[in-house]
Amino acid sequence: MRKAFINLEALQYNYGQIKKMAPHSRMIAMVKSNAYGHGMVPISLALPSADAFGVACLSEAIKLRQAGIEQPIVLISGFHHSEELSALDEYQLDFVVHQPEQVEVLARYKFDYAPQIWLKINTGMNRLGFLPNQVEPAFESLSRCAWLEKPINWMMHFANSDDANAQSNRDQFNLFKQIVQDFPGEKTASNSGAIVNLPEAHLDWVRPGIMLYGISPFSEKTGIALGLKPVMTLQASLLAVHSLKKGDAIGYGSTWCCPENMPVGVISLGYGDGYPRQAGIQSAMVSIRGTLCPLIGRVSMDLMTVDLRPCLNASVGDRVVIWGEALPVEQTAATVNTLGYELVCQVSSRVEFQYGYNT
Ligand SMILES: *Cc1c(COP(=O)(O)O)cnc(C)c1O
Repeated sequence: MRKAFINLEALQYNYGQIKKMAPHSRMIAMVKSNAYGHGMVPISLALPSADAFGVACLSEAIKLRQAGIEQPIVLISGFHHSEELSALDEYQLDFVVHQPEQVEVLARYKFDYAPQIWLKINTGMNRLGFLPNQVEPAFESLSRCAWLEKPINWMMHFANSDDANAQSNRDQFNLFKQIVQDFPGEKTASNSGAIVNLPEAHLDWVRPGIMLYGISPFSEKTGIALGLKPVMTLQASLLAVHSLKKGDAIGYGSTWCCPENMPVGVISLGYGDGYPRQAGIQSAMVSIRGTLCPLIGRVSMDLMTVDLRPCLNASVGDRVVIWGEALPVEQTAATVNTLGYELVCQVSSRVEFQYGYNT
């Protein structure tokens, strides 16, 4: 058994918690990258009150429309190529415009619907967006498009929203306010980190991603500490339990030797399921019968091994929680020097996803 249980009750609870944090803002629920590995379609269908959904690319947007999602869908990096424009029409997508090349293409196009466009300003993240001196010409040129019916909306993205004290947050936000203050249209600046750290930046729309899934955007705090509930519980089973002798070596490379006679368990999950191989080397924890037990030896493709000394009554067939309820993914992520974001995104298609409501 290798299963990701996706608790839709927790998802809806987190949505409500975020609403409480930013009560005056509408929400673009970020469901890009297959809803951070949780399953974009069932996640989106379970958020009927989300004001809009945010995705990274056209194929994600099309999947949502084909699943019957009727809310606005925003292509958060815009269209990548002029060949995608007809699909924007067909699926009635909203999109970000972040560079002059897109404006040129749009000036020559004629949409059959009224897309909501979001003009993205680069206020210091230096990834996507118009530089301050490019904003006015882009706005003028877009305003001349005959197909434009809705006021242009405005977007920026913080580089350090996970750091409450970063001066760059204030600098970026002040620059944004200064540029957009005289323009009509709605504004958005905040992802999860900024929703918590920068209430003044909530504006008309917030764009939470990771917090919807009950995971913290901060390395020093878990989602639970932020009042969220983990949505994904990744689990496997204990396939075998061995009583090994002092000096016995475990797994590939024989990297780990038993320091005493001890019980060792074999878990039905490995890097082929998206679990980080590094976690074996760093002795990441898993939870068995509510007890944390450290991994030992190398994580292999289908299997990994665990020290059962903390849980002497563990037996074959026991459920092993890899992360989720009972063990925040943030803890595993910290052990392997990454973020919960990356771990949940990497869960592979071999893992069976099961959706339900667990209160
Ligand atoms: C992914 C993304 C978000 C959501 O970020 P979280 O940290 O997961 O809340 C918001 N805005 C943009 C532009 C993004 O790409």
